[in-house]
Amino acid sequence: PAATLDEVVALCKRRGLIFPASEIYGGIANTYDYGHYGVLLKRNVSDLWWKAMIQERDDIVALDSAIIQHPRTWEASGHLAGFSDPLVQCLGKCKRRFRLDTLQEEAEARGEDPETVKCPVCGGDLTEPRAFNLMFQTTIGPVQEDGSTVFLRPETAQGIFLDFKTTLSFARKKPPFGIAQIGKSFRNEITPANFIFRTLEFEQMEMEFFVPPDEAQQWYEYWCQERLNWYTRLGIRSENLRLRPHDPEELSHYSSGTSDVEYLYAGTWRELEGVANRGNFDLTQHSEYSGKNLEYKDPQTGEGYLPHVIEPAAGLGRTVLALLCDAYDEDEIGGEKRTVLRLHPSVAPVKVAVLPLLRKDGHPEKAREIYLELRKRMSTEYDEGGNIGKRYRRQDEIGTPYAVTVDHQTLEDGTVTLRDRDSLTQERIPVEGIADELEGRVTNRT
Ligand code: ATP
Repeated sequence: PAATLDEVVALCKRRGLIFPASEIYGGIANTYDYGHYGVLLKRNVSDLWWKAMIQERDDIVALDSAIIQHPRTWEASGHLAGFSDPLVQCLGKCKRRFRLDTLQEEAEARGEDPETVKCPVCGGDLTEPRAFNLMFQTTIGPVQEDGSTVFLRPETAQGIFLDFKTTLSFARKKPPFGIAQIGKSFRNEITPANFIFRTLEFEQMEMEFFVPPDEAQQWYEYWCQERLNWYTRLGIRSENLRLRPHDPEELSHYSSGTSDVEYLYAGTWRELEGVANRGNFDLTQHSEYSGKNLEYKDPQTGEGYLPHVIEPAAGLGRTVLALLCDAYDEDEIGGEKRTVLRLHPSVAPVKVAVLPLLRKDGHPEKAREIYLELRKRMSTEYDEGGNIGKRYRRQDEIGTPYAVTVDHQTLEDGTVTLRDRDSLTQERIPVEGIADELEGRVTNRT
């Protein structure tokens, strides 16, 4: 059976992966902090995205653009006028505000009529919806005066469009080529919803792929497939992933085709990533608003044109949540209940734990020696506290695929036991060459 969100949330809290932010002050809605193992997990995911986009290709370059851009950016992109959601307020006791579309989605997911939603907190009736812009606004300088209003970016994509021409000038690329970046985006999300699925600040992994207009459809299809496959390579079960093309009436005004990569979060299909064929909307808008010619000039024909753009836009937090939901499992060992994260080794926060069987007889010294060797090559943890079963269980809960145990035999014949998190097999392997052996297992595990 699929893990419930509550089970995943409880595990994250128990092991300090992810927990509510500002907790000592009572927390702040839709905002979470990542602790040690959560950070390692999240970083592994963003590193793998980066690897797939940059290291393993020669047609995409990297960018890290500013969070606060010139305010005209958001006029041109349409965010200032159009990036709003219908907001409703509770007329009952609690008076809280919600995004209507989120309430309706949640109702639909529960099998209820989305047209007759009530306040999810107190059950009261709701006001008629009014538009509410999702961008956070702030000011540059000490006083709020004309022209000082700026916005925290609600997506990383626009920074890429602004730098399109600059990037072209030094990247030595021509369409089809892409620009990728990972960074924080901000949206004024007011409906409390589903742990880290929808948060006020979140990291996006976005890539804008610029192509000759007649190749747009073909590249759109390519990226839909490519992005879906990336999630299976992270170890997410393919039956829990799907590509859902948007209906024509669901499409954004600029898009001639969008498909969502969806994950079956705790029994409900929800968006993990959007892949959109944006046409030349963005470059057209920024050309017009900036007065700069953003055309690409083909050096052979001498002809200029605005490339079309295919955009895979993923959320790092949503990917982490999908991984956690997919990996969460409970089983029994010797009649005892065990919680285990069956994470693929490539994303697991810790790849191997080194454990001395006893806290004496030279076990800790030998174990530390092995630990110091292994940690040069991979994320490794040393743990000597508590009985061995407890220590295994702790590693199981954070998804560590391997544990190496040092016992009296190690000191005699130079072998250790290697325990596998999933099969629970324990085999003896030599200490000699153990880093190569483990590295091989971590990279080749399917
Ligand atoms: P939704 O409809 O769920 O609000 P969206 O279609 O507005 O998402 P996009 O603008 O396409 O999302 O953003 C691309 C990706 O960024 C999403 O697929 C998601 O992974 C991530 N994302 C967007 N908003 C949030 C948020 N508030 N919290 C966490 N991740 C988000």
